[in-house]
Formats: sequence, structure tokens, C-alpha cells
Amino acid sequence: MTGRATRGAEAHDTTGTDGFERYPLLLGPSPVHRLDRLTAELGGARIWAKREDLNSALAFGGNKTRKLEYLLADAIAEGADTLVSIGGVQSNHTRQVAAAAAYAGLKAVLVQESWVDWSDPGYDRVGNIQLARMLGADVRLVDAGFDIGFRQSWEQAVAEIESTGGTPYAIPAGASDHRLGGLGFANWIAELEAQEAELGVFFDTIVVCSVTGSTQAGMIAGVAASGTPRRILGIDASAAPARTREQIARIARSTATLLGVRREIAEDEILLDERYHGGTYGIPDQATLDAIHRAARVEAMITDPVYEGKSMAALLDLVARGEIGADSNVLYAHLGGQPAINGYTAVLGNPG
Ligand SMILES: *Cc1c(COP(=O)(O)O)cnc(C)c1O
Repeated sequence: MTGRATRGAEAHDTTGTDGFERYPLLLGPSPVHRLDRLTAELGGARIWAKREDLNSALAFGGNKTRKLEYLLADAIAEGADTLVSIGGVQSNHTRQVAAAAAYAGLKAVLVQESWVDWSDPGYDRVGNIQLARMLGADVRLVDAGFDIGFRQSWEQAVAEIESTGGTPYAIPAGASDHRLGGLGFANWIAELEAQEAELGVFFDTIVVCSVTGSTQAGMIAGVAASGTPRRILGIDASAAPARTREQIARIARSTATLLGVRREIAEDEILLDERYHGGTYGIPDQATLDAIHRAARVEAMITDPVYEGKSMAALLDLVARGEIGADSNVLYAHLGGQPAINGYTAVLGNPG
């Protein structure tokens, strides 16, 4: 132990994720609420949302904050003093790593690559990257394209910290391709089941955006651990869906094993809809922009052009066309990401 961390990890008492140390970063269960006006407008399934954008008091929270509770406990147990991670210039993930590090009294080194070809003024200065710098992270801009896998620039940063006497803890893109990456959203399912019991509702379908995959994978493993089946419908926003699907399947299976699930996760439990990514990671198409504006104008719910606007476009289309049936209760998993909208003034909120 370095003794730098000042807040303790807690053991935690929910089904499946019992026995895994968790460093608390969330405020409690994330809110679940109805989207009544959107439901009425579409005239089909009843639509609700569960809000990871409102899950934490730390620098706007989001889905990575929930995953990082488990990785941070592990980092501290290993005596790490520096979290090292990677993402695009407007990465929500690296901003949440910076927040977790600040909160726990650790350092953060963030490798930020050029994953998105977007030339908005301030794209590399506002939103998530501005926040990461404000949070005290060592932000390193690197010229490399989109890839959710392990990267040389990131391995170099890890080696450099080691060579200067630091103890790095490596967190892959999206906190996904990591032994503990699926635990946060496996536990999300247990949290949701308690909320459903309280509200007297059951969500047969969950719509969730997928890119690095451990959010959806964690949910799939959580469903397997709980034994109450429901459809976890991933919406690809990577525009490289074969890679994302492979990663979801792998992480769902390894997480289920970690949780002690005895049965195999079947292929038909890995559902990734490839119709809504708009052709390019990080770039919104017209359907995405329309969905963002509709959610804002009908429900005052803000979604971003990289992730949540794409899963919102899917939700609206699937409900409107009855692919999600009128007898369904569908839950939109809002995973955060709003700080990125500041880098998209050319297409959002621009008076022209
Ligand atoms: C990272 C992220 C996603 C995708 O989650 P994965 O676990 O990487 O599949 C979706 N929405 C937002 C806002 C994100 O930051």
C-alpha cells in the first residue's frame, strides 16, 4: 500500500457481485423514471429510463464510474499510485478515470488519441478533455485512430511510470477488457430488480449503447446470475460491430464465470443491433441528430452525438415500428456522455 488513498473500499452485499471489493463512487441506486410524453407520442411500448448520467457526484458521472468502483478497489489493493488509461480526445471514460483518481487521492495519466475526425472549434479543449485537465490528470494527446483494443502508446505510458518509480494501474479503453470490467453492470441488474420490485414494473427489454462492450456484457452476465430472463438489446455505436460483438460475448462469459454462474451464455443472448451507428464512430448522422433533438424537446433529456443519441435513435425507431412491441415495458439505459456536446456546436444548438 502506498497510503495515498484516503477513502476505504467496502465489501458489498448484492447478488452475484458479493465478495468483490468495491470503492464507492456512486450516490446510490441511479434514478429510474418514466418518459411519458415520448411514450404518448410514439403510441407503443411504455418507455422508461435509468440514469447513469445522474449516478454520481463526481464530475458528471456516467457508466464508467460504475465500472471503476471495482477496478479502483483492485488498484488500491495492489498499491497503485497512478491510474493509466486511454480513449479518444472527447473520451467520457478518461474523464471518469480522472475523477476517480482525484477522489481517491491517486494520480491519472490519460492517453487521448484522435479517434474522431471532427473539427469543431474547441473540440480538443472543451467538454471531457477540459474536465480531465481540471481534475488534475496528466493528459497526453497522441495521433492514432479509433481502436478499442490494447495500444502501444498506452503500454509506453505504463512502462514510463514504472521506470520513474511509480506504481501504475492499467485500465483499458472503456474499462472493458479487464477481469473486473463487467462487474459494475452485473450489479446494475441486481439494483434494477430491487427498483422494479418497489415500482411494481418489469422491464422485458433494456436498450443500451455498446462500443467497448462491458456495459452490455455486464448486464447479460447479471441477468444470467439473477435467473430472471429479459432482453438486453445492444445498439452498436462503434461502427465496427464485429469487434464490439466479439468483445461483448467474451466479457459476458468471463463475467458470468467470475460470478459463479454455472450455465453457458448462449449466442442468442448477445444481441447487437448494427443499424444505428450512422457509419462512423463519433459522428452523428441525421437520425441521431433528430433523436437528440426529439429527446431534448419532448422530455428535456440530453443525449450526446457519439453514444446516447445513437441508442436513442434506435429506441425511437424500434418502438415506433413495433419491433419493440406495444405490450413491452422498455428501459432506456442512459449511460451519460453529455459533456461531449460542447465539442459538437456545428450540429447541436447552433443558431446557424
Ligand atoms: C463508454 C460509453 C458507452 C459505451 O459503453 P461500453 O461499455 O464502452 O460499451 C455508451 N455511452 C456513453 C455515454 C459512454 O461514455
